[in-house]
Amino acid sequence: LLEVNDLTKTFDVKDGKLKALDGISLKLGKGETLGLVGESGCGKSTLARTLLMLEKPDAGTVRFDGTDPFALRGKQLLAWRRRVQMVFQDPYGSLNSRMTAGQIIAEPWKTHKHMYANSRDRAARVRELLHLVGLRPSDADRYPQEFSGGQRQRLGIARALALQPDVIICDEPVSALDLSVQAQVLNLLNDLQRQLQVSYVFISHDLSVVRHVADRVAVMYLGRVVEQGPTEAVFERPKHPYTAALMSAAP
Ligand code: ATP
Ligand code: MG
Repeated sequence: LLEVNDLTKTFDVKDGKLKALDGISLKLGKGETLGLVGESGCGKSTLARTLLMLEKPDAGTVRFDGTDPFALRGKQLLAWRRRVQMVFQDPYGSLNSRMTAGQIIAEPWKTHKHMYANSRDRAARVRELLHLVGLRPSDADRYPQEFSGGQRQRLGIARALALQPDVIICDEPVSALDLSVQAQVLNLLNDLQRQLQVSYVFISHDLSVVRHVADRVAVMYLGRVVEQGPTEAVFERPKHPYTAALMSAAP
């Protein structure tokens, strides 16, 4: 579904250049979860931003169903943007506090007008999405700050689902939540994957969370993928010394 080859991205910083991505190659299949782990600053979010086309790589290729999204323009580009969505770490910062939950979920349809014919269809779809993520229809009229942390994250997931994406990039989606709420949100993501066949790129510094959700894992270190493979194989028989160190440092 998604294939990334030899991606590099360098930022100009005060004292020279910083290679945030240094030859990244990854694959993500349909309905699969790819866990992305690595220490702070290793380039996880930069990679996520590149997949969302918010960041243009210096070199390397992104292929989505065989198409290079960076080569698309106009309508085709808009159609492609629909297919990759994001769930953020901080459900407080990423949801507009002046909009109701219903407005937040419906907002992406302003740029993708063709998806629902009229406001009645949209309102019905908002209720469906709320139900899908375990919120109530009446929650449509509440504001994000009236929600608990876990409910807010459910709302963020509903918004990401509004455009029926093929891939959702989750950047630390549960690290701001209590442990018991983490488990609920992770179970929701798993359920949605089974129902909708959506693929996840799941970024997390928490190895036990990654082990729980990921089919395959890529370990990043200083802008490189030093190891990737099926989750259990990587966890039980790490090949790279950095992976082994990461595992042994985990609680
Ligand atoms: P964390 O786990 O802390 O979120 P990360 O793996 O997501 O870290 P990135 O945010 O991808 O790390 O950053 C990778 C490197 O690129 C860091 O050294 C960061 O300072 C640098 N970087 C990221 N964005 C920019 C930018 N816009 N300009 C300059 N440097 C940047
Ligand atoms: Mg990050």
